[in-house]
Amino acid sequence: MGLKSRADRGRPRPLPGRSGEAAVPAGPVRLAVLGATGSVGGAAMSLARGYPERVTVAAMAAGRNVERLKDLVEEFRPDVVSVKGESERGRLLELLREGGKGHCPEIFIGPEGMETVALSGPEDTVVLSAVSGAAGLRPTWAALAAGRKVALANKESLVLGGDFIMPAKRRLVVPVDSEHSAIFQALGGSLDASGVRRIIITASGGPFRGRDREYLKSVSPAEALAHPSWSMGPKITVDSATLLNKGLEVIEARHLFQVSYDRIKVLVHPQSVIHSMVEHEDGQLIAQLGPCDMRAPLSYALGLPRRWPLLGAAGEKPLENYGPLAFDRELAFEEPDRKSFPCLRLAEEAGRSGGGAPAVLNAAGEVAVAAFLRCEIGFLGIPRLISDCLSQLGAARLLRIEDALEEDLKARALAIKFLKERREKY
Ligand code: NDP
Ligand code: MG
Repeated sequence: MGLKSRADRGRPRPLPGRSGEAAVPAGPVRLAVLGATGSVGGAAMSLARGYPERVTVAAMAAGRNVERLKDLVEEFRPDVVSVKGESERGRLLELLREGGKGHCPEIFIGPEGMETVALSGPEDTVVLSAVSGAAGLRPTWAALAAGRKVALANKESLVLGGDFIMPAKRRLVVPVDSEHSAIFQALGGSLDASGVRRIIITASGGPFRGRDREYLKSVSPAEALAHPSWSMGPKITVDSATLLNKGLEVIEARHLFQVSYDRIKVLVHPQSVIHSMVEHEDGQLIAQLGPCDMRAPLSYALGLPRRWPLLGAAGEKPLENYGPLAFDRELAFEEPDRKSFPCLRLAEEAGRSGGGAPAVLNAAGEVAVAAFLRCEIGFLGIPRLISDCLSQLGAARLLRIEDALEEDLKARALAIKFLKERREKY
């Protein structure tokens, strides 16, 4: 595949903007991928493989998976990468030396390393924020503060930082999360929902849809990780089973589209064909339908205002393993069950409380899901731990990134303390 030279990558290019006002990018988008070794990161790599003339991956941040990162470095030859810590850097260097492909990028470490990756290269570098968890906030904010466009998959950035990110940096944020991309597309490539009556976020309902609390008591991590429609990283997959993911998405939507919680509705739609919709004042709904493939919302974010020919244009092959939506299912809709899946209610309440509550919800959720995956607590222990943390923290106002990081740390420490002191409760 035709990789671009470094000289090509550095070429200045106008920022793509919203439809109508936007210039079409002159050359390939230079992408810095945060979370390169993850599921959304993999979708970005697939697009870069399929469309080297449209996107080039020039910088990558990962955590611990240095084996995967080594393969990506050899394939895409980025200028800059970052990994979790010193030992990962040592191992990556060793693997690259053994691989013998003769390319070694600058390797940075830790949260600062991710920021370096986000700020590397020319100003018109687009940053794909696809790290999982609150760890995504710092590099996302660094990119936005420097005036860089951010393709945002990391919903936690807005859950923690929506109050200071959106008022200041709205024009730089492009949604990648599929529901938010669906709403963005239904609004014609805009975040302006001022004429909209309601935003309707669809949810698959996860693997335990229709189950009661008695059943949920004893479900295993393996069962929770078997998502019916999407293939994703472990945290978001478990969050899809508890409906915490949908709750985080409600908070994400409130910030992205600047609408009140009263105007956001969650609707379970098990077939995952409609990715979300907007309802206008005249009762008309605009929905977005498509395959469950993150390459679609990602390519929309990168290509705006043009769509990329993922299905294959004249004489071109379709993107690998990508096909049109099959009209082979009846579409069903039902209300979410907030009794059996209290994480959705907890998130909606935390969102309405505002301040630090969403950050507390998220941090407790991260600690709880990690403990569930280690088989230390049960599935219903996840909402219990979140609820306990929310009852003690969350009143702070998060007006700066430092506030958000502090609230996140406090909530994590409290969740860990609760797990130590009263494990049997969860
Ligand atoms: P994955 O678990 O598949 O990947 C997470 C990525 O983040 C990996 O590259 C991982 O590195 C990296 N990472 C995690 N923690 C750190 C850290 N402390 N420092 C550096 N790197 C870190 O997650 P997903 O791709 O599924 O999700 C990523 C984000 O996108 C989440 O916020 C999720 O909610 C959102 N999202 C995901 C969707 C999906 O389809 N997967 C859909 C919509 C939104 P490593 O593995 O090397 O340790
Ligand atoms: Mg989503």
